[in-house]
Amino acid sequence: SKDAKAARAERTKRAETLARNNVAVDVNDLYKAYGKQAVLARVNLTVRVGEVIALLGPSGSGKSTLLRCINHLEGWDAGIVMVGGRRMGFSGDGKPLSPRAIAEERASVGVGMVFQQFNLFGHLTALENVAGPLRWVHGVSRVDADRRARELLERVGLSHRAHALPRHLSGGQQQRVAIARAIAPNPSVLLLDEPTSALDPELVNEVLEVIRRLAVEDGLTMIISTHQLRFADEVADRVMFLSDGNIIEEGPAHEVLTNPRNPITARFLSVME
Ligand code: ADP
Ligand code: MG
Repeated sequence: SKDAKAARAERTKRAETLARNNVAVDVNDLYKAYGKQAVLARVNLTVRVGEVIALLGPSGSGKSTLLRCINHLEGWDAGIVMVGGRRMGFSGDGKPLSPRAIAEERASVGVGMVFQQFNLFGHLTALENVAGPLRWVHGVSRVDADRRARELLERVGLSHRAHALPRHLSGGQQQRVAIARAIAPNPSVLLLDEPTSALDPELVNEVLEVIRRLAVEDGLTMIISTHQLRFADEVADRVMFLSDGNIIEEGPAHEVLTNPRNPITARFLSVME
């Protein structure tokens, strides 16, 4: 119809503008509710290529839900998520995609994700955890996938543990394998959902150090939900503060962390660290 055609033209124009402005992720009026409770209340978020965003906020504020929507691990009720100039979850003519098509889209658009609980395949070695998905999802040959996996395990300091099963690795080592797995296909954006929250305190730094290097040395675009304020201050370009599904404050990391304007942000920051 004429309306659909106009909507399509509008989306195409928007995608072109985003690509021109080097926008990696664009979340537009994202709304999601469980029953009557709005978990994301019209969230807007634009992430430029190479930017590192720290997503802060109390438990239950919607951080995981937002990241899971960007990766299309969850659906939503209204709003648009664009990654790399592509509208996630919908075909070119605006029809919702099937689960299988969504999985293919996630792989081709290039969104990687690291979870709080690592989520490694328990029956596979560190090397296979990284190389396996490259073969199964991305169609890389065994030789190339293994080579790439070794290269990445070295980057995260785990060459010597390549053949260990996850249960024989520390939490910090498991999370470093998970990071290697997530970046193996060269994602255009990496989402990290409280990557150090499940770790014993003495293992936190080895994981933060790997993430810091991805930001500083590789310029990888990242959105990280975290409670590590000092890390956010050092590594993030921008901080966003979520409260009850609303971004109530955002700005340059150091500015928001040292001089929050919203009283809710101020109170939250004052009780941490
Ligand atoms: P955070 O990651 O910031 O702790 P979440 O995104 O996990 O927050 O959760 C945000 C809100 O959504 C919470 O109030 C939580 O109880 C609710 N929620 C999350 N998942 C579900 C679900 N499957 N069903 C109902 N409510 C949910
Ligand atoms: Mg969470």
